[in-house]
Amino acid sequence: MYTTEEYIKMRYDRFGRGLAYRARNKEEHEAWYREAAARLSELLGLPRMMDTEPSPRKTSSRRYRGFVCERWELDTEPSVTMPFYLLVPDRPNGGAVINPHGHGGGKDENVGIVLRPGETADVSGEVHDAPDSFAAALARLGYCVAAPDARGSGERREGSHAGDGRERENSHREMLNSYISLGITPLSAMVWDLERLLDFVEALPYVDGGRIACAGMSGGGMQTLYLAALDRRVSAAITSGYFYGFRDALLRQPGNCGCNFVPGLYEYFDMGDIGAMAAPRPLFIESGTADGLNGASGIENVYSQVKIARAAYENFGAADRLVHSVHGGGHVFVGDGMAEFLAKFL
Ligand SMILES: [Zn+2]
Repeated sequence: MYTTEEYIKMRYDRFGRGLAYRARNKEEHEAWYREAAARLSELLGLPRMMDTEPSPRKTSSRRYRGFVCERWELDTEPSVTMPFYLLVPDRPNGGAVINPHGHGGGKDENVGIVLRPGETADVSGEVHDAPDSFAAALARLGYCVAAPDARGSGERREGSHAGDGRERENSHREMLNSYISLGITPLSAMVWDLERLLDFVEALPYVDGGRIACAGMSGGGMQTLYLAALDRRVSAAITSGYFYGFRDALLRQPGNCGCNFVPGLYEYFDMGDIGAMAAPRPLFIESGTADGLNGASGIENVYSQVKIARAAYENFGAADRLVHSVHGGGHVFVGDGMAEFLAKFL
């Protein structure tokens, strides 16, 4: 057979990673960051996203032990609405965590709560048991948590994936085809929507604007990584199951969801470079040694990227702010050390 497998790798090696991280000090880092952020933003299509009046509105709420879960909606672009859960702790500690979900469902599955508009009155005295989810655990620790549906997922599935019984499906592949033809990408839309959520969260009276983290697993880790790279309002970031070299993973596994892919991205960056853009803000990376998404060379394809990002933190004398937690499992969220990380850095 006459495949292009070798050609793709050759092309990556010849033309890839034009903005590789090579800064040797803070000043070089800042010069690189300005160029890298502008390039990444342009590749994603972020400058083409459209402003609109966000008009946030609370549609329902339900009391749990330790927090209240509110369902909100806000508009992120003209005619584009994002529903999200806002977990309001009984005793806020001033910190907030934006918690984008991965594939295999939306915010309902991520948070462990299903709440539809008007479902439960604000004044309901009933107290529900808190679900066993990362978001609920954070809320019980005093963090305000905002967990949205990403475009194409949860309540935002497009027509071909809409309907009951299909909650674990998403429309990202179809969105990719439409969006790239319009000069934007699913990933730019996700980052843009999270930025609008950041606008909302930082204006909450019980949240300190300098203490907003973003944390996600898998596709949620992807959203976290790009948001942290491009929006310095993110004070700390946690990505689980999403930090590996493009060449050995996504380039060879193009069957991954369409939201991973951005035209021209590999010409400029590897994933470690995106991680370097978060420096010196605290970054927690969780990886599983048996995670098949790490790529053909496994965990080595993660270590090489952490090394790239670590160089950026070392330029700031802040190597301790980059934590790499490795477990022996597969593509799963473990969470060991994350609460301690947030307590220390957020
Ligand atoms: Zn996707």
